[in-house]
Amino acid sequence: MEAFVPEVQLPTELGQRVPLAAPCRYCGAWSIFVELRLEARPVGSFSLAGAMPKASASTWPYAVCDACGHGSRGEVAGEAG
Ligand SMILES: [Zn+2]
Repeated sequence: MEAFVPEVQLPTELGQRVPLAAPCRYCGAWSIFVELRLEARPVGSFSLAGAMPKASASTWPYAVCDACGHGSRGEVAGEAG
């Protein structure tokens, strides 16, 4: 049995929201949007005081349900699992 994997058109800009044609696996509502969020990831250990903190920021797709507010990073909330 194959899992249903919807075609996802990921947003291309921060703050852009793309509706996802899949039901929320937590509340069943068809009101899921995919949005990009910027997430900073610390790199390495802390430097000496006075040094610039080093971090790399990357964007992650978030599947956010408008009905129950559940958000899943980097996955589609409509998928099983
Ligand atoms: Zn939901």
